[in-house]
Amino acid sequence: MRTTWRLMILAGVILMLTGCLPKKYRLSFESPGFRTVKTLYAPGEAVEVSYRIATDTDYWFHIGDVEFEQDYDPRRGVILRFTMPEHDVTIGVDRKNTMTFDPDAHSQPDGISGTGGVPSGNGWICPECGEENSGKFCSECGHARPE
Ligand SMILES: [Zn+2]
Repeated sequence: MRTTWRLMILAGVILMLTGCLPKKYRLSFESPGFRTVKTLYAPGEAVEVSYRIATDTDYWFHIGDVEFEQDYDPRRGVILRFTMPEHDVTIGVDRKNTMTFDPDAHSQPDGISGTGGVPSGNGWICPECGEENSGKFCSECGHARPE
């Protein structure tokens, strides 16, 4: 009889313990490049993630609604530290190259293509398609010669 009780209490204790064990939540990443020692964390557990960066690029990290500390280590890259919340967490990063990029560098102003913008003779450049013409209408698209 006493043995049975002990077994029942033991079983109850085990059930309680397993029931109270903190559920673990998954850490996932929107893009490759993040490094972490593991991907399952209990709520309240300290999480540390590193991310290698390039110096000519700006990075903005976001971890859902989780507040995090951002640090930099020259050997490991950016270090993100936060406390695991009671839900799954996804870490993402937005990147922007800081090298100046001029979107107009390779396109020419409208209506001029390859002629340098100076019509030869009494020709004209079609404002619609850029074709050089001499008649009343564009030989390429039919657009009327501008006055
Ligand atoms: Zn035209």
